Amino acid sequence: MCKNHFNPIHCIVPPYMLTKLMESSNKKIADLAINSDFRSFRFRNDRIYFQKASLQEKTILGLISKQTGKETMQMEVYDCKQKTDFTGATLLWNTKNNQKITSVAGKNVIKGGKASWDFYGQLFGRNSIDNKGLLIKQYVHYDKGMDNAYWDGRRMVYGDGDGLVFTSFTSDIDVIGHELTHGVTENEANLDYENQAGALNESFSDIFGIMIKQRFNNLDVKKSDWLIGEKVMIGPKYALRSMKAPGTAYINHPELGNDPQPATMDKYQNLPNTQSGDFGGVHLNSGIPNFAFYVAAFNIGGYAWEKAGRIWYAVLTDVKLAQNAKFSDVKNLTIVHAENLFGINSPEVNAVKQGWLEAKV
Ligand SMILES: [Zn+2]
Repeated sequence: MCKNHFNPIHCIVPPYMLTKLMESSNKKIADLAINSDFRSFRFRNDRIYFQKASLQEKTILGLISKQTGKETMQMEVYDCKQKTDFTGATLLWNTKNNQKITSVAGKNVIKGGKASWDFYGQLFGRNSIDNKGLLIKQYVHYDKGMDNAYWDGRRMVYGDGDGLVFTSFTSDIDVIGHELTHGVTENEANLDYENQAGALNESFSDIFGIMIKQRFNNLDVKKSDWLIGEKVMIGPKYALRSMKAPGTAYINHPELGNDPQPATMDKYQNLPNTQSGDFGGVHLNSGIPNFAFYVAAFNIGGYAWEKAGRIWYAVLTDVKLAQNAKFSDVKNLTIVHAENLFGINSPEVNAVKQGWLEAKV
């Protein structure tokens, strides 16, 4: 069972961005950011209830996603029609009927969901989020102008964005892959969503999210821009995060200022373990293991998922990866798995070591 005492929801937009937007002089941006922050709070409480509920309670409330056991993708996509009621959402599409749809958000999440399912299935033989054929449920157009996307422990939920700073959170495959990977992590290492373990949880989602996008677009380590959420953020110079150069995803943004992510351990942010402190800066400090992965994958060369991805997946699914793991634990495990997969003193092992060295872990 999950010992995670914060029971947080996993969202793509960190509190440090929403806090900035809440202070905006543009009333629409500020109002919608406050509403998005409120939704995060509500989702978190849903999740606390969900994790404590008995099987019978979960069944009555319809909170259980089916483990289909099937080895092909099972997915349902719903339209919330800018409301916040899941039970009233309309089914847009499912794998069974493969309906023709016109909804752009709907098409985006089908594409991103398929790319993610294929990534895990074709590369690692993984059968969905839980490896037992879990039915993937995705909800688009949640609430009016919500600035976020979530994995809430049983489904993926996407807002449309405020239309000024953010557009639809379905716009980037890496964001969809990021959210789905939170589900994978929850079923594997189940890393605590606080402090270094939380930053690793975030980092695994960015690492697999970027590889899902790279594979879908056939981009090798040199062609990829290593940006997360570049389409979700409005403006050609902005993205949510940069894995290649954490701290440069947005610079002098009129509402958000500068990207505060550190790339190296000496810049690690010791923040309070609270919602406003992003549970010890999980979305900030994730820049450090993200950067280590980028350097490792870049030095190995080719397609990131072929070698670096295998190493990181072996770590994520290794029972030795503790729920409260620290960066140094993941560093050690990536070296061990690189040695197992590619041999001691192989170029892959040296690349992994170089990655952690440059991230100063
Ligand atoms: Zn996340």
